[in-house]
This record gives sequence, structure tokens and C-alpha cells, in this order.
Amino acid sequence: MRRAARPCEAHREIYKKLVLGFFKVFLLPQKTSAYGKEKKSPSGGLLKELNKQQLMCFISSPSLSLATFRDKLLAPILVERVSGTYGNYIVRQHIVSILRSSGWHIDLDTFYSTTPDGIVEFTNIIATLDPTRKRRLVLACHYDSKKLVNFIGATDSAVSCAILLDIAISLKQQLDNLKSRADDITLQLIFFDGEEAIRDWTSTDSLYGSRHLAMRMSNTIIQGQRSLTELQAIDMMVLLDLIGAETLQFQNYFQQTTGSYYNRLRTIDYELMKLTNDRSWPLFTSSVTPSYIMDDHVPFLQLGVPILHLISYPFPGVWHTSHDNEENLDYPTVQHMRNIMKVFVVEYLHLKQINCQETSIFHLIL
Ligand SMILES: [Zn+2]
Repeated sequence: MRRAARPCEAHREIYKKLVLGFFKVFLLPQKTSAYGKEKKSPSGGLLKELNKQQLMCFISSPSLSLATFRDKLLAPILVERVSGTYGNYIVRQHIVSILRSSGWHIDLDTFYSTTPDGIVEFTNIIATLDPTRKRRLVLACHYDSKKLVNFIGATDSAVSCAILLDIAISLKQQLDNLKSRADDITLQLIFFDGEEAIRDWTSTDSLYGSRHLAMRMSNTIIQGQRSLTELQAIDMMVLLDLIGAETLQFQNYFQQTTGSYYNRLRTIDYELMKLTNDRSWPLFTSSVTPSYIMDDHVPFLQLGVPILHLISYPFPGVWHTSHDNEENLDYPTVQHMRNIMKVFVVEYLHLKQINCQETSIFHLIL
């Protein structure tokens, strides 16, 4: 995503945000905004909230241990994976093979784009539990890494992508139940390629994958539907980015459309924190603020998709440096975030409650 601020620059950034906010709100016509605005009223379903006892299930009997999460899901992504390179291909294979073997429908959106370094091949990965359904909860991350020497991008955005894979694996039984349940809703996981600028961030050198996919989805009718496009079928896109550092903090950027979901995440965060002692302060702050961070949600936001942007702000101190590696991840934070996201997905999709005693079948997949 576009650089917003390092922690040490936070004050300067806040000032800049205020100035930009003034120009955006009072001087610029809305359609010239580069950031889009909230257009669609919330179409998401009601959450089926878990009680404290049910939340405890996620803590007391995790279906996928932290060690397995690290070794089997995250570690293969912790390599240089610049768009159009072999590393990018290998990571794509890792993501696709895990999801295919878990029964997901995989759509690879491959295209070529001109960049400052010539023509590059990009491939978005779209995994859908049931592509014929009319409503989708979308969870998204970007799997490419920035073209910098020795840059792994653990928080940017390997952890986010591993959390998406974790949801597919850890909740497999419940998601399989959803597939066989008569319902309109399904889950879709999007792994964007080409989020990073090849050189310096501009409107054309950045967000290659999300710009391409948003257009493609707005022109693609869902199988079996007369006129409903893939884009219109998105209830909400939850975009995860810059996750994994101890300093992780989220803010509520889209109060009008997804604010109620942000607030529920905040409550889940708080309740799980009380149960686990994994962290001593919450990830979801009470701050409600306009969004000025450019990221993969922007092309979708501009086409009216409700967005929940889960990005750390301020950015992690290791952002776009060679120190953004596994050594600087904070695993209690990662573990906490894994649990929060799983609870949210269970609640949103009304998945069958986990039986704490049930043996997971994840070992058959990994
Ligand atoms: Zn980045």
C-alpha cells in the first residue's frame, strides 16, 4: 500500500491528513477523490454472535496449532515473491494447492501489464467455496512482495495471506457444512498479485491485481444468474494488510457501511483478550476516521463495494525494510488475530458451532 506514515512520523501525517481532509471535503468534488467513497448501503447479513463459552472453544482447542500454522501455512510464503518472478509462482502454487485440496473452486486471473520495468505477468487467485451462490463474504490480502533487496514482507502481507489459508483449513468442517446447506451466502478468498509498486507508487504503478480484478468482476455474471455480477455479489470485502507486529492497531475507516462489523470485531478482540492473556491491549481501536490509505480495496470501493480495511496504522516500524521478516513478528499477536478472524467468519456465515471435543481433519490436508 502507499506509504502513509512511519510511527515516528505520525504527527506530521496527522497534520497532513487534516489538511488533505479539508481539501477533500470542502474543495474537491467527490468524483475526483482518488480514494472513492462509501456508496453501497450495508447488504451484509446479521451476525450470529457467539457467547463467551463458545469463544472459549477457539482458545482451548485450536484446530490448528501455532507451530503448524507457522510451518505449513506461513513459512512457505516467507520468501521473496515479486510479481512475475519464480518466487511469486512458488507462493501461488502453495496457496492454490492448499485450497484445492480443501475443496475450494480456484479461479486464476492471469494478465499482463506494462510497468516501469517492462511488461510483467500478474495472477490474482480467487478461491470460492461455492461460485454459484448469490452473496459472498470476501476476505482478501496481497501475496506479492515489494521489489527491494532482501525484502520478505512478513507483515506485508505474508501473515495476512496465511490467516486466510488458516480460516479455510481450521474451519473446513463448518465450511463444508455451509456448502451443503441451502443458503445464498458463501465465502470467497482473494489473494491479489501486484499490489506493490514496481518502482515508486503512482496511480499506474501500483494495485495492478486489484484494478484488473475489480473491472473483471464488474463484467462477469455469476453462473446461473441472469444479471448479477461477481462484484455486485460481494456483501463486504475485508482486506487484511500489515499484520503481525506487536504494535498492530486498527481503525474504523468506513463507519457508514461496515462500522457495525468493525465494532463487533472490536468486541471479539476484547473478549478473546480477556480469555487468553495473549495481549495486554486491544488491536481494534475506538478511532473512527476517514480513509486515506491506498490499498487493494480502492478499486472495489470506487465501484461501490462495502469495505472493512484491517491495516495497521501507524504502519509497522519495519515497513518496507529488510527487517520485515519472521524475526520481527509477534506470535501472540498473530495468534490473537487468527482467533478473531475465525470467530468473525463463524458469526458472519452462521457456521455450525465448533464442538470443542471434535477432532479436526486438518491433518488430512496438510
Ligand atoms: Zn508494501
